[in-house]
Amino acid sequence: MIHGTPASGGWIEVICGSMFSGKTEELIRRLRRAVIARQRVAIFKPVVDDRYAVDQLVTHDRVSIPSRPVRHPRDILEQAGDAQVIGIDEVQFFDRTIVDVCQQLASAGIRVIVAGLDTDYRGCPFEPVPELMAVAEYVTKTHAVCVVCGSPAIRTQRVVKRGDRILVGGSDAYEPRCRACFEPPEEVSGDLFKSPANETKRRARRRTPGREERNEA
Ligand code: ZN
Repeated sequence: MIHGTPASGGWIEVICGSMFSGKTEELIRRLRRAVIARQRVAIFKPVVDDRYAVDQLVTHDRVSIPSRPVRHPRDILEQAGDAQVIGIDEVQFFDRTIVDVCQQLASAGIRVIVAGLDTDYRGCPFEPVPELMAVAEYVTKTHAVCVVCGSPAIRTQRVVKRGDRILVGGSDAYEPRCRACFEPPEEVSGDLFKSPANETKRRARRRTPGREERNEA
């Protein structure tokens, strides 16, 4: 997909998927091309995400681009300056006013590119990303590779036991899983993730040694 600079009016692009699906990488790729075209680019991310650096966008494999940490979506409006392109990473950590901010920026003629998780560790939609997907002109779903079976992964499996929705971490706390291999936490009730195929897979997994046991062997 090719995105040029709109002749009049801006737009919103959403890049979303599970962890380790290359969302930040794709965001950086698009922003770098805008920089090469000598467009004025501003990049923001929420301060909650301080995994690697506070003033840079950094992918899990340490590719980086300078960014400004902000606490609230309205800070982006205040700091947008004369940017033609605005990139926002880890957009799921902002409250829903980020949707209005992105709409305002796009309506002011700015190309807005946001990246974030579309589902949380329970496999449930991670607001405000679903709402952003609805109002965006372009949506790209990125896929990771399931660590269990190698299928395209759309879920983020939390591998440490914690009940809070936001637990910032990398491969020590999360791993990508496909729909069939994803195991939702116990608090997610109902039949959302139950299917005959998934149950067969889970039973098969229980018969074979667990990942931890294999690692020790
Ligand atoms: Zn799988």
